[in-house]
Amino acid sequence: MTTSSDRRVIIVTGGSRGIGRAICLSFAHPDTIVYFTYLKSVEQAFETEKQVKDLSGSAVGVKLDIGIGKETEEFFKKISKEEGRIDILVNNAGIVKDGMIALMKESDWDDVIDTNLKGTFNCIKYASKIMIRQKYGRIINITSLVGASGNSGQANYVASKAGIIGLTKACAKELAPRNITVNAVAPGYIETDMTASLPENVKDAMLKQIPLGRIGKPNEVANVVLFLASDAASYITGQIIHVNGGIYT
Ligand code: NDP
Repeated sequence: MTTSSDRRVIIVTGGSRGIGRAICLSFAHPDTIVYFTYLKSVEQAFETEKQVKDLSGSAVGVKLDIGIGKETEEFFKKISKEEGRIDILVNNAGIVKDGMIALMKESDWDDVIDTNLKGTFNCIKYASKIMIRQKYGRIINITSLVGASGNSGQANYVASKAGIIGLTKACAKELAPRNITVNAVAPGYIETDMTASLPENVKDAMLKQIPLGRIGKPNEVANVVLFLASDAASYITGQIIHVNGGIYT
């Protein structure tokens, strides 16, 4: 039997839906426990817990705004106290509030930067304190194709995702001597709630740019996260892995 001291402890932000749920499911195993955050979707969080359990794993959803440092600190302290360690952190939670730069509300800029970039910073800050002590850790940040390429009408989102690329590279160098790897996965166009609401003409234009000729699935991103978290990726750090159906970046 696995006790709480020898199971792998995994944290996934934004696990109630979409790519985050697929990541939680990919880690489901009798020897792991997945703690995931969400903001509003209580029912969907229960559904993630249930689906992980159906795969013989354990998952616990925690309502938390990762953009708020104090609450995020408490969350990591609690897990560290209960589990004694944190092996893997996946910074997946993200939001969009699109608009043209000249018309963008200051609050839309702040909300997107606070969740996507500051939220990632908060989680790395508090997880790394624990990982440094245990001399082991895997951190995987979810950025975006547009964080590398840019995109019209998404200045706040693109800036947050480009910031995550820089944050990944800086933390990879800083934490490598402590045996902690830090990488990022950059999805292209993936079928989730985030992309479902896009106008049909925008979806058609995006599809035309994808050499593989189809939209990606959440589990196709989760597979890469799982690899980067595995022992097979022990010599990879500071890298940005694009999962976008072949779009040249
Ligand atoms: P979804 O909108 O489907 O899910 C977002 C998740 O993040 C939800 O679980 C949501 O919780 C959670 N969340 C949002 N804000 C916060 C917060 N402040 N604190 C904690 N949790 C929060 O997104 P996707 O699955 O599509 O995207 C996942 C990641 O992948 C994002 O970082 C996104 O930018 C990135 N990405 C997605 C692409 C795509 O095509 N879908 C392409 C490129 C990158 P709740 O359910 O409670 O709202």
